[in-house]
Amino acid sequence: MLETAIVVKVNEGLHARPATQFAKLAKEFSCSLQIFRGTTCADAKSAVKLMLLGVKQDDQILLRADGSDESDAVRRLLQFLSEPSAGVSLARHGAKDELPVVKAESANEDVSDVLASNADANSKAVPEPPLRGVPASEGLACGEVFVYLPEELRATRQFIEPDEVEQELARFGAAFREAIAALDQQFESIGQHDDIVEALADVAQSDEFSGAVKDRIMSGWDAAAATLQVGEELSAAFLAMDDEYLQSRADDIRGIARQVTLKLLGRDDVSLASLSRPCIVLAADLSALDFARARVANIVGLVCIKGSATSHLAIMARAHGIPAVLGLPVAEERLREAAMVAFDGVQGRVWFDPSPELQADFAARIAQDRHRHAALGVYRDVAPVTRDGRRIAIAANLGSLTEIDAALEAGAMGVGLFRTELLFMDRRTLPDENEQYDVYSQLAQAFYPRAVVIRTLDVGGDKPVPGIVFPEEDNPFLGWRGVRMCLDRPDVFKPQLRALLRAAALGNVHVMLPMVDDLDEILRVKALLADCARELSEQGTAYALPKLGIMIETPAAALTADLLAPEVDFFSIGTNDLTQYVMAVDRVNPNLAALYRTDHPAVLRAMGMVCAAAKKAGIGVAVCGEAAARPEMIPVLIGLGVDELSMSPSSILRAKKIVSEL
Ligand code: PEP
Ligand code: MG
Repeated sequence: MLETAIVVKVNEGLHARPATQFAKLAKEFSCSLQIFRGTTCADAKSAVKLMLLGVKQDDQILLRADGSDESDAVRRLLQFLSEPSAGVSLARHGAKDELPVVKAESANEDVSDVLASNADANSKAVPEPPLRGVPASEGLACGEVFVYLPEELRATRQFIEPDEVEQELARFGAAFREAIAALDQQFESIGQHDDIVEALADVAQSDEFSGAVKDRIMSGWDAAAATLQVGEELSAAFLAMDDEYLQSRADDIRGIARQVTLKLLGRDDVSLASLSRPCIVLAADLSALDFARARVANIVGLVCIKGSATSHLAIMARAHGIPAVLGLPVAEERLREAAMVAFDGVQGRVWFDPSPELQADFAARIAQDRHRHAALGVYRDVAPVTRDGRRIAIAANLGSLTEIDAALEAGAMGVGLFRTELLFMDRRTLPDENEQYDVYSQLAQAFYPRAVVIRTLDVGGDKPVPGIVFPEEDNPFLGWRGVRMCLDRPDVFKPQLRALLRAAALGNVHVMLPMVDDLDEILRVKALLADCARELSEQGTAYALPKLGIMIETPAAALTADLLAPEVDFFSIGTNDLTQYVMAVDRVNPNLAALYRTDHPAVLRAMGMVCAAAKKAGIGVAVCGEAAARPEMIPVLIGLGVDELSMSPSSILRAKKIVSEL
């Protein structure tokens, strides 16, 4: 028997991928292999047991081997544990998963024309009274629906008869194999890497999961009841760990248990990734992550019971030019029953199962909208100037590289807001510096010499990400989010700042901080940027110092804009949050939509103060909240002194037209 102590050097410790790779390597040897961390011990050939052991980078562990090939095993495993990049496949640093781009023509229409055409429609016979929700993304849609309502699964019985055990074990085995194959296919279709499937398959095959389910079946449990119960227990064990990477495995386990249970119950799960033809998606709720994983090209409209005009779902729908009505006050049952739907995203009116007349009416109006959209194309290369000679930049709000083409096609004069959250959400672990650098530098190069304003991570509120554990908070929108979280987590923030500094060497990168409240936050970020710059220069890595700006989205920042302005290069007003905080109205609460008014005198006064402070300090002021694209707000914002408007690509041409005619 051999025993060796070692300090683990694997980056981030033995979380999912390294644990899977380590267990795979251990299985190549016939000797028994165990790892001790403190007083707890795990079989080194079980990835799940290793994950549950929670070994972190720089932990000291003891490796025990017993058998004929023990010396070879110890040598190879020690080598693995002392290698920082062990267990990270090349694919992890490879190309970012690409999401399909969709351009819905109907989203680009002139709003007044849509209102006019809606009025026309009203004057024609509109048979049924529509339901009303929150208009969240402009455009009209009419067509077949795809109902996305994942159900809570329940086993049909709890226990079985003794003579059913064999059959239940066989059923579980078959369901299990099918679920793993389906998982493989699903990840392939959305371009995820093999090592994720491998890690999930390993968890599923472990004694802790499939072994425990089989034990339960043998003691008289129904296969589906056993699978659900074991899935819950195992995911609770992962959730209780103090490592956030391992905590996020809890979802994987629940996901596997769900897939196996669905097979056992002979049911299919609804998945937006499987949308095979253009449909209007009806859902109770849809997370930004669900949306990111969907076949967006096949979503021609979105109707949701939850959500509001400035929820991130609405922002993503607008970014992709998908008409949407959110916050629709109906029961889930109504969605389940619908076969077709017609709606307009300007007024938030929704008709379930529209009459043939109404369908024909929608078809005609959608064709008209396409025509109007095509006519706006003449503004693509226009740099709009108001009649009194003010040049107004119209820039794009983007959330991923897949939206670049749409923005360039629409004539975006730069990127006024790149939300980096999606980069952190659409995955299972935090992206490292190199992955971020790849994305930021591609963005900067695509728009060069135009400026790209990249916002540092703004998570928390309604935007949690896998890999960061957020505390339970009574008021998450007033909580640990944006720059507050980043300043507390230099391990998350510094890789992003370093990636931004490096990308700034390749393009016109500006860095923007979200949720700033106080001067001290800006000064602390500046100090971190200086640290990062020093580190990069010491290691001989190319970098440039980007312009630094802040979002003005808290009343504190608006009221002290004159004190903050001397420390930054630009302001960008985040009207989505500024309105919510000035008005004390939750931006995602559809019941308060009428009070959520960016044109309220209180919000207008706050913005006026910001513009005055920017002017005095000689810095630029943009608006990157959703109000920047609203036709009735554009003249108001320009009147207040704003000199850049940043919006979804689908609204750019219309904004250029409006500004040119002011
Ligand atoms: C805003 O608050 O206006 C904004 C642009 O940021 P987000 O919508 O991402 O919170
Ligand atoms: Mg905001």
